Amino acid sequence: SDPEIQNDTIVAISTPPGRGGIGIVRLSGPEARAIAEPLLRLRNPLAPAQARYAEVIDTIGETLDEAVVTYFAAPASYTTEDVVEIASHGSPVLLDYLVRQCIARGARLAEPGEFTQRAFLAGRLDLTQAEAVSDLIEASTLHQARIAAQQLGGSLSRQIAPIKDQLITLIAALEAGIDFAEDDIDTLPAQEITNQISKIQAPLTALERTFSYGRIVRDGFTLAIVGRPNAGKSSLFNRLIERDRAIVTATPGTTRDLVTERVSLNGIPVELIDTAGLRQSTDEAETIGIAKSREIMAEADVVLLVIDATAPPHPEDEATIASLTTRPLLIACNKSDLTTTSSSPKTSRPTIETSALTGSGILELRAAILSQISSTTPTAETALLTNLRQQQAVSAALTSFAQARQAAAAEIPHEMILLDLYESLRALDSLTGATTSDDILHLIFSKFCIGK
Ligand code: GDP
Ligand code: ZN
Repeated sequence: SDPEIQNDTIVAISTPPGRGGIGIVRLSGPEARAIAEPLLRLRNPLAPAQARYAEVIDTIGETLDEAVVTYFAAPASYTTEDVVEIASHGSPVLLDYLVRQCIARGARLAEPGEFTQRAFLAGRLDLTQAEAVSDLIEASTLHQARIAAQQLGGSLSRQIAPIKDQLITLIAALEAGIDFAEDDIDTLPAQEITNQISKIQAPLTALERTFSYGRIVRDGFTLAIVGRPNAGKSSLFNRLIERDRAIVTATPGTTRDLVTERVSLNGIPVELIDTAGLRQSTDEAETIGIAKSREIMAEADVVLLVIDATAPPHPEDEATIASLTTRPLLIACNKSDLTTTSSSPKTSRPTIETSALTGSGILELRAAILSQISSTTPTAETALLTNLRQQQAVSAALTSFAQARQAAAAEIPHEMILLDLYESLRALDSLTGATTSDDILHLIFSKFCIGK
């Protein structure tokens, strides 16, 4: 199917399912106005970008509800098509009735994300911006929403544009060199080509590095709190979840089960996992708990090992540290309020003195957790790669750049260098959606909710 040729009129309920104060039915397409108007008794005719009071009427003209109706004339609308939004009371019966009436008059029920897909196909949004719409809707912290809003505003596209321009200039120079080679026009020297490629590579490499942070902003990460019984794991866990309780959802279990909570750590969603004690045991139930802890430790993005600073160094803690040499690991020397000579283990891993009792060291602990997950916390102005699709496009472009650079250094014919450069260009174009297959587009937009 070719989405480009769809210029029919689509309709959907754009507010979430269920009852609410207000519910919105949205129409987009050439017939939006003609389909909506017979369902309404308007005191004043619809006018572009203006809200109108209207009564929603049934087929014999009886009033069903009052509504505010907004009309956006093409191309100044979300989709760039004619759009009508009917904001009535949020009664599912009424909203369903409106949608069915619109369908009876020739509209088609919109597919998930189809409004945004139309904005994309019309060129009003590029693919990174369309993805940002979905991220914004899915955001669970304000920080996530802010990052998505920047991408929706085109931050990523703006970062890519000059890189692409430079690449096209280089391609043009090489093409010209080839075209005029017979006329003895000087072709670009190899050194100049490799220099140009390096110049284009640098900002792209920097952009690729933002993915480690962009990924966790969008998807969050898991933090497993481990340590011996009584070290203060549960107390630190409770300290860490104190803030931003709005998005906290508790899943308490028995004492030997895992307790997890989703919290916001400086705007990044974190799944905190309090594990059962990691001690050797012959007791069967406890052994199961320990096995589970080790499993969780293996899967967590970051491990926080809590050590009782008042107790002498314990071989179990040392074994835990030794088993995690290649993993992000933080050590909290807890109960610092009880001792001035805390017995921290001999390790080069980041160690923070904390007191779950007084709260001292908790701020430092939060900061250390975040720096474990990403060494780069970009400034507000930096564009971020936030999903795997974007990262893979940039990484593919970089791979081709590296090949082109190698070919240039080896003084291989320019035709061969050009092949790699065109490959890079294709990868960059797929990032913004300039060249993206229908299958991929379908995959991206089908993850949207209906009505967006
Ligand atoms: P867990 O078994 O590792 O989860 O340890 P708990 O969080 O249940 O704490 C064990 C005991 O240590 C409790 O009595 C806590 O009140 C106490 N405790 C935990 N953290 C601190 C701390 O920083 N200072 C002091 N003085 N006591 C603490
Ligand atoms: Zn505990």
